[in-house]
Amino acid sequence: MSALAVSTGSINLGQGFPDTDGPTQLLEDAVAAIRAGHNQYPPGIGIPSLRHAVVAHQARHYGIELDPDREVLVTTGATEGIAAALLGLIDPGDEVVALEPFYDSYAAGVQLAGGRLRGVTLEPPDFRLDLDVLAAAVTDRTRVLLLNSPHNPTGAVLTPDEVAGVARLCVERDLLVLSDEVYEHLTFDGRPHVPISTLPGMAERTLTAGSAGKTFSVTGWKVGWLTGPDHLVTAARSVKQYLSYASGAPLQPAVATALTTQDAWVAGLRDSLQSRRDLLVDGLTELGLTTYRPEGTYFATSDVRSVGYDDGTAFCRELPERAGVVAIPCAVFYGSPDRGRFLVRWTFSKQEAVLTRALSRLESLARGSG
Ligand code: PMP
Repeated sequence: MSALAVSTGSINLGQGFPDTDGPTQLLEDAVAAIRAGHNQYPPGIGIPSLRHAVVAHQARHYGIELDPDREVLVTTGATEGIAAALLGLIDPGDEVVALEPFYDSYAAGVQLAGGRLRGVTLEPPDFRLDLDVLAAAVTDRTRVLLLNSPHNPTGAVLTPDEVAGVARLCVERDLLVLSDEVYEHLTFDGRPHVPISTLPGMAERTLTAGSAGKTFSVTGWKVGWLTGPDHLVTAARSVKQYLSYASGAPLQPAVATALTTQDAWVAGLRDSLQSRRDLLVDGLTELGLTTYRPEGTYFATSDVRSVGYDDGTAFCRELPERAGVVAIPCAVFYGSPDRGRFLVRWTFSKQEAVLTRALSRLESLARGSG
């Protein structure tokens, strides 16, 4: 869809990446690190200052205690961390349960490991997790629960009660958890983000993924991390050794400093995304498109039946020609595309002026059906 956006000159509200840079200091620190010669292989597990910064971040925000030498692994984006964890933790035939719709790398990672992915579907309008449905999806073969909150693409944020319910199930059924928390700081309207590893009995069975790309608006840097108990981090580290061995040397010191010093910048990003969320969701709603207001992330979803389509993929294929805007069909985020058939995803990680321009282009939708 990004290629289609370029070839048709459309505004790309498809792929989720910000159109403004991260904190100036972060960028300057990376340039300085390159000039200072941080250009050869760093330690495979990540440079000490970044591992210490990740540990301090988890302690400051959530009261989580970690050993920087054994319980942190720096990865090439959260994507590599998730893939390494899946490859390290599951054997052929094992099952992984994930909240559906899911970020598309999950299915690929589970398949590469020879596992089977079972989705627990979050349904509109509010995309709440039904704990009974989750419990019913767990079988004797389930090894890992792959959790994602704040959730891409629905924007749902699990409530503290929901997280507690999931944790109880994991202890009861002896499941490992891979918790994708890359949008941890992007929650709106004062909602808290509760890492599942903070719940009773969970620290020893949870690997958590974080990402500098999301937190500091540098998605192209691909710097992420896994945290968790030694035995689970070791499983992922053994795989990472042969995926990439090590990750971006000059970016690591810059991210280490940002993780320690840029809390206010991140809070500003969150507040600005909240108002851009409202701009986009209110605008789409006024155009007659049923749109669900997300609680976190930088994505919102709409039901295209409200503007005369019965297929989100057809809607997204026609939209560039019709209105000069690109969105993503949510069908790609479901195990069975039919389940997400009516939904499309927009990102509001773009500047206000860009969102306003996209909304004015989309006015044709309000004037007639497709
Ligand atoms: N998890 C989720 C839910 C995501 O949306 C993304 C990015 N789209 C990632 C992981 C990947 O993060 P990174 O760019 O750090 O690999």
